[in-house]
Amino acid sequence: MILPKSNRLADSQLAEIAAIVTEFGCKIQPIIGAVRTIYAIVGDERDELMINRLEGLDYIDRIDRIQSPFKLMDKRSDLATHRITIGGVTLGEQFFVIAGACTIDPKNPNYFYETAAAVKEAGANMLRGGVWKPRTNPYTFQGDVKSMDILLEASHRTGLPVDTEVMEEAHIPVALNAGVACLQVGARNALNYSLLRAIGRAVDKRETCVLLKRSIHMGPINEFISAAEYIAAFGNPNIILCPRGTAPTLDGYRNHPDESVTPLLKEKTWAPVVVDPSHSVGKAAYVPACALAAVAYGADGLCIEAHVSPNHGIGDDPKQALTPEVLATTIKQARQLWALRRAAM
Ligand code: PEP
Ligand code: MN
Repeated sequence: MILPKSNRLADSQLAEIAAIVTEFGCKIQPIIGAVRTIYAIVGDERDELMINRLEGLDYIDRIDRIQSPFKLMDKRSDLATHRITIGGVTLGEQFFVIAGACTIDPKNPNYFYETAAAVKEAGANMLRGGVWKPRTNPYTFQGDVKSMDILLEASHRTGLPVDTEVMEEAHIPVALNAGVACLQVGARNALNYSLLRAIGRAVDKRETCVLLKRSIHMGPINEFISAAEYIAAFGNPNIILCPRGTAPTLDGYRNHPDESVTPLLKEKTWAPVVVDPSHSVGKAAYVPACALAAVAYGADGLCIEAHVSPNHGIGDDPKQALTPEVLATTIKQARQLWALRRAAM
């Protein structure tokens, strides 16, 4: 729908617009109002080039799109009935919890094995553990591929499927060949379209799913769904959206908690939403409340950092990991709240 700056277009302007949309197989239909006339684009209006050319005309105020730009991730797309099942649990039908350490310490694997056992005991569905880590400071521990063996051993001991972050293309085959069930795209890489494409291509024809974090720099919700559309368009529709806090930060929190984007996402896309309260608030004491808020907003699950002894953890764990006891209570309460919401629906 084209909204001109003036109350109606001059004939020469209408002719110019008609010539552009005709190039893209569309037509223009004026909708004449008492005060203002607007112009419908009849046809497939999703071509970005057409929209860009129209938006470049100085007598156009704005273009409102009627059709969704998301061919696969849209709630009305053919994929809308697609369901993601991990370790026998179907997201949306059962509450799904991912929990575990921020970073696996390759020098002290027992902490991770004990954490994995506690995560299982607390009722989580998937174990998380960082093998490669995106660190703001280049001199801090960057992860170690040796931790992949520790992650797999923990998976073997607990029977839990595992999730780990891949930061570059070369990590993808290493994680897939190891049998990682879920590739995590971190907040820093959620706008790295070449990595998103590579993940989409690489996981084609496999059961692997992708946990896509929301970038701290993402504003409009469409930007987040577009990132998911990249992965789906290149071959893998098993995408879980993960709000994890954005910039600018709220005083006292690590990021600006963004669990409230969940209903906005659910209006537009069929993809399940698993909120990460740990990075959202960044302090263990605030994590349980943020987790419950996420469930109240309609999240299908949670991704929580936990450690059997947070002070012995590395990466984010000393500050934001939950102890096994708090994790167990948080998961229990989140499941109760989720069930209450579902019963009320
Ligand atoms: C993490 O999950 O440990 C992590 C680094 O997350 P994010 O990409 O959201 O910062
Ligand atoms: Mn972390």
